Amino acid sequence: MKIMKFGGTSVGKPERMHEVAKLITRDSDNKIVVLSALSGTTNTLVQISDLLAKGERESAKDTIQQLHQHYLGFINQLVSKPENQEKARVIIAEHFEFLNIILRISFSEALNKDILAQGELLSTKLFSVYLSEIGVQHELLPALEFMSIDANEEPQLLAIRKKLNDLLEKHKGTGIFITQGYICKNAKGEVDNLKRGGSDYTASLIAAACNATVCEIWTDIDGMHNNDPRIVDKTVAIEQLSFDEAAELAYFGAKILHPTCIWPAQQENVPVRLLNTMQPDAPGTVITKEAGSVGVKAVAAKDGITAIKIKSSRMLLAYGFLRKVFEVFEKYKTSIDMITTSEVAVSVTIDSDTYLNEIVRELEPFGSVDVEKGQTIVSIVGNEIAQTDHVLQKLFDSLSEVPTTMVSYGGSPHNISLLVPQTYKTKTLQLLNTGLFGL
Ligand code: ADP
Ligand code: ASP
Ligand code: MG
Repeated sequence: MKIMKFGGTSVGKPERMHEVAKLITRDSDNKIVVLSALSGTTNTLVQISDLLAKGERESAKDTIQQLHQHYLGFINQLVSKPENQEKARVIIAEHFEFLNIILRISFSEALNKDILAQGELLSTKLFSVYLSEIGVQHELLPALEFMSIDANEEPQLLAIRKKLNDLLEKHKGTGIFITQGYICKNAKGEVDNLKRGGSDYTASLIAAACNATVCEIWTDIDGMHNNDPRIVDKTVAIEQLSFDEAAELAYFGAKILHPTCIWPAQQENVPVRLLNTMQPDAPGTVITKEAGSVGVKAVAAKDGITAIKIKSSRMLLAYGFLRKVFEVFEKYKTSIDMITTSEVAVSVTIDSDTYLNEIVRELEPFGSVDVEKGQTIVSIVGNEIAQTDHVLQKLFDSLSEVPTTMVSYGGSPHNISLLVPQTYKTKTLQLLNTGLFGL
């Protein structure tokens, strides 16, 4: 079994969906095709939800109306036979009727999740109508029947495996399955999701659940680049990455992959390939167990970071001090990304400020606490970085003009992380592109 996941831009226009149909029928391998919502749809659904949460029903209604029109235009070019146009119109009517009904219901978090699920439900059903029109045999697998998360919002791989394999068994003989990315059921049995960009996570979880031969992530770029192509001019695709390197890049901001989507594929040793729908024959990036070459491979940046420095000449050297500090973060379910220590101070970074006030209040008895918001973690990722000649020298030479406030090195053989003010992010990424990659 092979998994093929297509992101929003890959299904965002009728002609792109036609291309996807060609790509999934290029070979006769059995496959599960995971689709995102049409590009822009999830953003619009988030907008609708936000408007409803604020009680702005009229604006929400207008936004729903515009999205409805967009879909009606989309199906005009997606399918050509009148009976298929009618089928597609019925699907759209059903989902927009739901959106119009919620305008009258009082808003809740569960309703928010229901709204966000509409995008993937629509894209898969419409794609299925198109596949039927061109005579491609397939089965639609409802993700809500097998994809689930527990009370800590962690995917339940064992349960997913069991349910998915039961469903596949039921449709033995089918070569092409289509399913929704992103959406799932939560511990309460309600509709939920795997967070923004979560269709990659769906693909990797399915790949692990059915021991797929490969998990292909099809997107709008020819693989993982050495730097953020949205920010830096000259970037190049990386041929090969290890699971660990790819996981660090995804976690530290390379948007091409959902932050935690690598672990399921890594656990079952399923190779992941990043491929470009617009250039299907480009080699893309292969992610496997082996690291391949030694050296720095890429840099990525993660915004919205808060640094917390706890200074205590009295307590830091006392054993048990760090444990007490970490317990505060554990209590508030806030994970620490970077940590550096000196004899009198410990600095950590967090990417969620939800419990910042509570955390600071509980840390204050330990010493003075300084908080710096608006920071960016810049990560330099590669294989055996420490053994690579002159990396640190090149790094510090390149960044002589950047006020770097933390450096974390040696925690993993794949990563050096720096903390810089968010306002220096673009400059830092550009300087590193020249300094480390000569681009
Ligand atoms: P999809 O809709 O297919 O899931 P995404 O927009 O989530 O696509 O991810 C692809 C985008 O990720 C690219 O268009 C690119 O702008 C961005 N991106 C950010 N960092 C990187 C990187 N290091 N390599 C490749 N793409 C990156
Ligand atoms: N449609 C969802 C989003 O835009 C999931 C995804 O595309 O991966 O975040
Ligand atoms: Mg994505």
